[in-house]
Amino acid sequence: MRYFLGLDIGGTAVKYGIGNLSQGLIVQDSFPMQAHDLASFQALILSNVTSLIQRFPQYPISATGVGTPGTIELTSGLLQGVNPNLKFWLGKNPVCVLPEAMQVGACCDNDANLMTLAEAQGYSGVVMGLTVGTGIGTGLALDGRIYRGAHGYAMELGHISLERGGKPCKCGLQGCLESYSSVTGILSSAGMVNSVYSDLSLSELIAQSHTTPALAEIIDHARSYLVQALQIATLVLDPAQIILGGGAMDAGLYDAAQVAQELHLSLGQHPHRPELFKARRGNSAGLMGAILMAEQRFADKAE
Ligand SMILES: [Zn+2]
Repeated sequence: MRYFLGLDIGGTAVKYGIGNLSQGLIVQDSFPMQAHDLASFQALILSNVTSLIQRFPQYPISATGVGTPGTIELTSGLLQGVNPNLKFWLGKNPVCVLPEAMQVGACCDNDANLMTLAEAQGYSGVVMGLTVGTGIGTGLALDGRIYRGAHGYAMELGHISLERGGKPCKCGLQGCLESYSSVTGILSSAGMVNSVYSDLSLSELIAQSHTTPALAEIIDHARSYLVQALQIATLVLDPAQIILGGGAMDAGLYDAAQVAQELHLSLGQHPHRPELFKARRGNSAGLMGAILMAEQRFADKAE
């Protein structure tokens, strides 16, 4: 049996674990993301990952997969866009965070791609995954493998423009899906109604929306943009399944059944209605995806 190490690097925490396709996630752990530069990040990874490997010698690591926010250019492997909490990460190959001996046989990908890869297991054909959190990430799996496009930039659904001259987005465009329907986007819309709303946590936002009609209306508006983007993606890609994941789905910002119903309505007489559901692996989907990516790449090299 072969075992693979996965890391899911997020803005607030790093999840890591050992597993494989047949046994799933066998062991996992996490640590808070407190590094503000690459050297301290490498030191954190070294101590935590080494400790995990030493605690479980029965699972020798064959290869490692690293997942991170941002877009990874296909040829160079360099990170092109980045979570604001991980500024030092820009322009790096995410594999460089691993201890040197582990960089051989390591690979990396965007966290939304990896969530999609994990959630698409067991399905054939076209599966689309979308993560809702600080931003909006999207991935597409074709027969269980991630589609990356010509340069690694495929499936940037978070940055399709839905409102001409709309809200500015951190990508430089205006009216992007992410600037309305991500948690950051909703908080900025809410802050325009009342500045105190922009400092709410996600759980406070959801709780207050039950008693504050203005907040409920902003979330409804955000969901309608999400549905609009999913309708476009459905008409372009004809996915069999759409999976909604990420921290905000876990927290209950959007109800997957309601999104599905509104998406199906928006498709009118279109003959196909994709199945839409919430990520089954929840918060560990990205980590499992990193492990599966390492297993797929390792198998490719062995062929
Ligand atoms: Zn954008």
